[in-house]
Amino acid sequence: MALADLSRTELEAELAAADEAYSAFAARGLALDITRGKPGVDQLDLSDALLTAVTGGDTRSRDGVDVRNYGGLEGLPEIREIFGELLRIPAEQLLAQGNSSLTLMHQALSFALLHGTVDGDGPWAGGPRRMLCPVPGYDRHFALAEALGFELVSVPTDEEGPVLSAVEELVAADPSIKGMWLVPMYSNPTGVSLSEERARAVLAMETAAPDFRLLWDNAYGIHHLRSPEAPMLDVLGMAQDAGRPHRVWVFASTSKITHAGAGVAFFAGSPDTIAWFTEHLGAGSIGPDKINQLRHARFFGDADGVRRHMARHAELIRPKFEIVTEKLEAGLAGAGAATWTDPDGGYFITLTVMPGTADRVVKLAGEAGVKLTPAGSTHPYGLDPDDAVIRIAPTMPTLDEVAAAAEGLAVCVRRAACEKLLAD
Ligand code: PLP
Repeated sequence: MALADLSRTELEAELAAADEAYSAFAARGLALDITRGKPGVDQLDLSDALLTAVTGGDTRSRDGVDVRNYGGLEGLPEIREIFGELLRIPAEQLLAQGNSSLTLMHQALSFALLHGTVDGDGPWAGGPRRMLCPVPGYDRHFALAEALGFELVSVPTDEEGPVLSAVEELVAADPSIKGMWLVPMYSNPTGVSLSEERARAVLAMETAAPDFRLLWDNAYGIHHLRSPEAPMLDVLGMAQDAGRPHRVWVFASTSKITHAGAGVAFFAGSPDTIAWFTEHLGAGSIGPDKINQLRHARFFGDADGVRRHMARHAELIRPKFEIVTEKLEAGLAGAGAATWTDPDGGYFITLTVMPGTADRVVKLAGEAGVKLTPAGSTHPYGLDPDDAVIRIAPTMPTLDEVAAAAEGLAVCVRRAACEKLLAD
């Protein structure tokens, strides 16, 4: 029976039971962290051959370039080809760069602020600027745009991506809306993948800003957990078809493929966008770390090598996702206190609790030894108006730890819901 349908006396009994379960959970003395989407040690181990993939005396790329030396601003062709095939992007429109796609997002936005884009009417820094943020979304996207002076504007999402009517209305009316964040596949944190229809619509829509940009952050494009796999859209081809070839900036990286923070990041766009980006990039860099790029190219061999590698990741982390849903189901089914996503890929589960209880749940869990991402972090400025969304990142702890954390989390959700219902 749903907690909301219980009498006051029944609810008090429920709370007493939840309190007892919570005390038992806290007494286990856990110290678990499910805050950030970091790979587990076993996942990192999968890529350890990288550490010796380039050795002294063997430092030439396919084209005979000595990767120990300066140059090659666009990145090594072999790694651009491998990831071009996976991301469905022509290699010449895909730059391979340093270790972080977030840095590339920061650079692209900074270049637009300082110099303008390929088709706009001047530097964005000259006037007011706003960024659309589909919610729930990724806290670092919000922080990045805020740090560069964008006002953050939330837009709701559904099972196909950002709600089109809300987006269309905003971008048509307001020229200060310069762009929108988008995680097109297995989104952080909902796991939702953008439908092709929605993608075509946001690529084609009329915008008041002449150079509106979609920041297409395909961080989880090949991070499938199970079939059916979300399809990789030919986004640059679709932008071309829509008559808006420059609208999209594509980002990706190997952070959750090889070693997080020590991988290769990618940027893609129209040929003009690539020329624009490399021109400004070249003012601040002689070239990326080609040794690391060669390591990655050798380690994978080809796109199929990456696919096989990703299947090994999925084998390791799928059970962690499954145990979370199993434990939440066991602890919360029928209580009407929460819903949760069951994603087919990516790194996160979104837990939506009774409005007004997310912050309390995070506090309760933290006090019992399970650290969660602060409530609100899935929304701009850290403010979830419903205080309902919690992001769960199950990949880093061991399977047993994830099971214990999810079990405890269910207890916290139940207890917070009883407290709320009794207080209302
Ligand atoms: N984009 C999204 C959607 C992410 O979830 C993350 C990491 O969690 C990143 C980007 C970070 O990427 P990188 O390590 O390439 O900077």
